[in-house]
Amino acid sequence: MTKRKLSERQQARVQQLQQKRLRQAEKNKSSEPVLNEADFAAEQEGLLIAFYGVYADVEDKQHRIHRCYLRQNLGIVVAGDEVIWRANAKTNEGVVVAVKPRRTLLIRPTAPGKTKAMAANVDQMILVLAVQPSPAINMIDSYLAAAEINHFKTVIVCNKSDLLSEQEHQALFELLNIYRQLNYPVVFASAQQKTGLADLQRLLSTHTNIFVGQSGVGKSSLIAQLLPVETVRVDVLSPAGDHGMHTTTAARLYHLPGGGNLIDSPGVRDFRLWDIAPEKIAEGFIEFRDYLGRCQFRDCTHLTEKNCALQHAVNEGIVTSTRLQSYQRIVAALKG
Ligand code: GDP
Ligand code: ZN
Repeated sequence: MTKRKLSERQQARVQQLQQKRLRQAEKNKSSEPVLNEADFAAEQEGLLIAFYGVYADVEDKQHRIHRCYLRQNLGIVVAGDEVIWRANAKTNEGVVVAVKPRRTLLIRPTAPGKTKAMAANVDQMILVLAVQPSPAINMIDSYLAAAEINHFKTVIVCNKSDLLSEQEHQALFELLNIYRQLNYPVVFASAQQKTGLADLQRLLSTHTNIFVGQSGVGKSSLIAQLLPVETVRVDVLSPAGDHGMHTTTAARLYHLPGGGNLIDSPGVRDFRLWDIAPEKIAEGFIEFRDYLGRCQFRDCTHLTEKNCALQHAVNEGIVTSTRLQSYQRIVAALKG
């Protein structure tokens, strides 16, 4: 059994434990010792903006932020969680009493067999690419697979387009046709020249977004353009004596002035294809999905097997060989 499988199993166990705690929390509700019921107003819905380890910022329906503590045995809460909370009339603080079911949960591995939840209810990934040198298809596909497996939509953003000559722009535009054909929107933008931002903002609205991509591609610069009045606190400078960058800064949800939400933190920006079993990667290639399970061999790896439905789809011109090769490279790298 591979390490990867083990860690998946461990993840499942962590989830089971979490479920158990949630059930326990439900049971404990009536006998909660720390709440003096008389001090608390009725339950109301809220949006968890950030969780700071002990308390959380919860936004009410009027967009006011309340510092809230967590009812014991609540389990984890993360930015983006939709919660039920009660205000304490005496202290002006509140208590989170329940977390609504999540549509998505972004989890990253921290150590072997350990994971940390980063953000809830994210539904779109904004993949920011470096335009020079031309981005590697392989890298793009790896991000796309990670997004698909997490049930996020994706927007591809080519930032720094001001650096491209007309010809380079054209070549990159054509390189990315493969993604337009798969219905991933592609935006050319420049945070510096402030171009493409309206298109990007339109795609962000009505979604809860995360910005991802390699260091230096311009994520901070783009976010600064989209969130001009907010202070984006994503400083990753380590305190003296701490070696290397740390990614402990709490993820925070921001409402974008042009509509939609952004959840951001250094850890969230670092999102990628984490800890996924090679067998699962194929599901991250949307155009493969119709063919999965149709190969002659149930455990087909779509590499060299006979009667592979995916190879067949490539021969028919339905799936591009670029994407199948990309898939094969990603799987090979994971197994390597
Ligand atoms: P991040 O690491 O992805 O957050 O990238 P940053 O936003 O910190 O940007 C990295 C560098 O690229 C900085 O020096 C920015 O000034 C520069 N940069 C960002 N956006 C643009 C752009 O649209 N055009 C150009 N020419 N430079 C940019
Ligand atoms: Zn196959």
